[in-house]
Amino acid sequence: QLPLALLLSALVGYVVWLATANRMSLSWQISVGINAREFIVYCQPLINARTNGCDGIELLLRWHNPRQGWIAPDVFIPLAERQNLIAPLTRFVLTEVVRQLPQLPGCAGFHIAINVAASHFHQQEIINDLQKLWWPADPKPQLIVELTERDALPVVDQSTVAYLHKIGVKLAIDDFGTGHSSLSYLKTLSPDVLKIDKIFTGAIGTDAINATVTDMVISLAQRLNIALVAEGVETAQQAEYLRDRGVNALQGYFYARPMPLTDFPQWLENWRQ
Ligand code: C2E
Ligand code: CA
Ligand code: CA
Ligand code: CA
Repeated sequence: QLPLALLLSALVGYVVWLATANRMSLSWQISVGINAREFIVYCQPLINARTNGCDGIELLLRWHNPRQGWIAPDVFIPLAERQNLIAPLTRFVLTEVVRQLPQLPGCAGFHIAINVAASHFHQQEIINDLQKLWWPADPKPQLIVELTERDALPVVDQSTVAYLHKIGVKLAIDDFGTGHSSLSYLKTLSPDVLKIDKIFTGAIGTDAINATVTDMVISLAQRLNIALVAEGVETAQQAEYLRDRGVNALQGYFYARPMPLTDFPQWLENWRQ
């Protein structure tokens, strides 16, 4: 009798211990965090290389977990992708930006870029989400979907890509030239924009081999008539180099660090002055 009671109470204790907040698995905490609104939409300005005006923003997710503090996207995004939680996060970003759009002055002529994982293209899921969450937006800036890819097997649903083009959404290939973001995408996805990864921007003036790749990506995109955005611009020298070669838009700490979307109207006002 006694050993059984002991065993039971130990078991109950163990379950309680497991369930305490700080021991919940990170993926469980992501789903809880979405409902508890622990995620915050940040944005980073895209600067027109020719006019120096701000043409748009890229939305970047931040997570402030009440138990563990700030958790970096490089930690929670790959996890969310593996645990089928990436679509709910994308829906959160879409909902938030649409809610805040009326506060962004003059954003009708803007580009708004969101990061979408390749898995979310599957079975046109992203299309359904855009129809439900983005279409009602008013004002409605030009949407750019940045295809981000971390999985070993990049299977991007072709029909989804075709449909995005049909409804006027632009497609950007993120981190072009790194990892799995390959040359074959140029043919299969006919992207509107290539994003030069910050590894290549950082190589300007320091790393001859990667800087050569940068030059080749630029001339490749120009021959194929694809717009170029360089990310990770940190110095005036990098900005000048990229501008001289005809890169269309620049993004990086040199212009602005990612900021809460709610701070952006104020930033834009100062930038325009
Ligand atoms: P990414 O899409 O390539 O975004 C660019 C990353 O570079 C961002 O990191 C940004 O904060 C950082 N960055 C911007 N300018 C500079 C610079 O001048 N120097 C340096 N060193 N870094 C710069 P972040 O925000 O930590 O995001 C990391 C990655 O997480 C993103 O890389 C993106 O792939 C992913 N991610 C972020 N938010 C989302 C999201 O809402 N959905 C999805 N699917 N992925 C997201
Ligand atoms: Ca991106
Ligand atoms: Ca990326
Ligand atoms: Ca990148």
